[in-house]
Amino acid sequence: MSRDRMGCAQRQKEATLELLGENICPYCGVGCRLKFEGEAGGVLRVRGVESAAANRGGICAKGAQLGPTINTPDRLAQPRLRLGRFDAFRTVDWNTAFRYVREIFTNILNTHGPEALAFYGSGQLDTETVYLIGKLFKGHLGCNNTDSNSRLCMAAAVAGYRTSLGSDGPPTCYDDIDRADTIVIMGSNMAEAHPVTFDRVKASKKARPEQQIIVIDPRRTPTADCADIHLPVAPGGDVALLNALGRMLLGLGALDHNFVSDHTRGFEEYRAFLMLQNVNELCTLAGVAAEELYRVAKILKASQGFLSFYCMGLNQSTVGMWKNNSLINMHLLLGQIGKPGAGPFSLTGQPNAMGGREAGLLSHQLPGYRTVEDAAHRQEAEEFWGRSPGTIRAKAGLTAVEMFRDLEKGKIKAIWIAGTNPAVSLPDLHQVRRAIAKAQLVVVNEAYHPTETSRLADVILPAAQFGEKEWTSTNSERMVAYSPKLWDAPGEALPDWQIIARFAQALGYKGFNYASAAEVWDEYIQMTKGRPCDMSGATSARLREVGSLQWPCPNVDHPGTKRRYLDHKFAFPDGKALFLPRDHKEPREVPDHEFPFVLTTGRLYTHWHTLTRTGKADKLMRREPAPFVEINPRDAAKLNIEAGDMVQISSRRGTIRLPARLRDGVCPGMVFMPFHWGDLYGEGNAANYLTISAIGRVAKQPELKFCAVNLEKVPQPKKTSLPLPIAAEEEIEEEGLPAEAWMY
Ligand code: SF4
Repeated sequence: MSRDRMGCAQRQKEATLELLGENICPYCGVGCRLKFEGEAGGVLRVRGVESAAANRGGICAKGAQLGPTINTPDRLAQPRLRLGRFDAFRTVDWNTAFRYVREIFTNILNTHGPEALAFYGSGQLDTETVYLIGKLFKGHLGCNNTDSNSRLCMAAAVAGYRTSLGSDGPPTCYDDIDRADTIVIMGSNMAEAHPVTFDRVKASKKARPEQQIIVIDPRRTPTADCADIHLPVAPGGDVALLNALGRMLLGLGALDHNFVSDHTRGFEEYRAFLMLQNVNELCTLAGVAAEELYRVAKILKASQGFLSFYCMGLNQSTVGMWKNNSLINMHLLLGQIGKPGAGPFSLTGQPNAMGGREAGLLSHQLPGYRTVEDAAHRQEAEEFWGRSPGTIRAKAGLTAVEMFRDLEKGKIKAIWIAGTNPAVSLPDLHQVRRAIAKAQLVVVNEAYHPTETSRLADVILPAAQFGEKEWTSTNSERMVAYSPKLWDAPGEALPDWQIIARFAQALGYKGFNYASAAEVWDEYIQMTKGRPCDMSGATSARLREVGSLQWPCPNVDHPGTKRRYLDHKFAFPDGKALFLPRDHKEPREVPDHEFPFVLTTGRLYTHWHTLTRTGKADKLMRREPAPFVEINPRDAAKLNIEAGDMVQISSRRGTIRLPARLRDGVCPGMVFMPFHWGDLYGEGNAANYLTISAIGRVAKQPELKFCAVNLEKVPQPKKTSLPLPIAAEEEIEEEGLPAEAWMY
């Protein structure tokens, strides 16, 4: 068919599409509201909603290609169960599945106690589900071992906000992009991982060319390509860089004396700590030229609005919380927080990672930013749930990596995994596989089967996904958004919240008989009343009317809150934010003669997490079809590696083989790998077979950005032809459609 006729056929098809409705994108934490159009049998077009505050009509390729991921042959329609790991799964009804899980759970509880159980969830789960997981596990089973894959991406940000400002949750909003003079993007490849927000940064820069964009990242990423200044910090050198910057700002007289004296504590200790540091030594540790950093210091001093974005590059570290504290110190020193266009802004990786934090999925949390360690918080939760005093344990439960360690040791006997694929995403995958193999029971809630994790399970429960249920989520800027049900889930698949509620009832617990997601939501928000994340005014009825509201939203007449701390009263009892002096610390595993390279892992524009959805969209797979290792050309030349050569990459934990891409955007001595691909795409090629499971002391976030590896060229008779990425523009032009309207 000629291109003209193809274009004409597409336009005709476009004209007949029916609007199915709107939903929040199920991928990243930008929280784009998307419009789904189609006809009987499926979604044919996805576009951004113009009136949505988070994306203002924007959409990226992942969102635009959601259509092909919905009705796929691997969607789960019935529960599946097998009695032995070498048996085939058989289809069962819900009652049989619940009876089976209940029997094993009860045996374990009676024999080993609640600490032998664990729930590992996800920032993909809606808030209603997260709330019920906490209510069941922490409030009824007495088990605090509930954690989330948010532990892999956001735990350091949570701990950073709590220790520096007194409460989790960013102070900022997306509108601050248009109000900031200077935007520092540190440890975040926004252009690929949060593309619609980055589009807004680019638009702001275009409208105000004097706005300064400073990117601090060891790699020259597509984000760094758009920067006025790119500081290629040495991997692991962030705290040293921020301390050097702090020292330079003090030297420049940039201190906001009034703000610091009226609204902060700990400045004198911080100043004394900085004055003992040698700037040149710090710059050497940070791997940046002192003159370049001084240039940044002068820009920050002159800025009326300094906004910082940060993500995994700061968080995925054994000192991730310290990196967060060190960055927040800059904002406090300059008085650049609690006003439009200023403040620290952690980007969330998943659509409801924020909601999970608010509703208490992490192992130390209870709903409404409460913690299990706080006796008053436990009492409030027990009273709210009608439980006897002492039901909720005072000790924080196990975090993600700790859970899988204890599973391998046999201390945890049963694990329930929902909305995540730890057999690809956790560090040290050989350990994860050994742990799962030891489990007495593995239950997995999933929309698809097989995934790398579901194929290791005993029971798989079919979950309805976005568009197939009513659900609520919170995005990176604290925007709580409601998504309606647009089409039916396949077969007997249920929303996760219903799966949890029905299982709780199967265990004999009262208080889980909900008629709707709205009922769960309205119960949950009462627990946020009077808390920093108060959303008691964002009732289900109101959200169904207005779509979204930013917390705090303490009553039904409240319009929601764009920015926190405008009164400069922070969330500590005395209202003062805290300076926290933090020293540079080496990552847990540094290169040596045996493993001389640093491996850092990350994301690509067209893929999301473990390819469970994006792996089903042909256009996305054509653009990035396979994993690779990115090497600096100078290192490659020394090892006689050419582009496309197969390279063996080894760490102390595993060995994988991938084709090489040569790029001078990675610094010498470092290699980069995307972590998206798991064993379904080639046994043993996942980046996380190599990564280290070392975790931070407080945030317990694993150091996914840094471990030591060795590279060797694999002798090969014939060169591997590495599929080249297809430029999005090429494909769009081929389709004759604008970027936001990819059709299939
Ligand atoms: Fe979805 Fe994130 Fe892309 Fe928006 S930017 S469409 S939320 S993946």
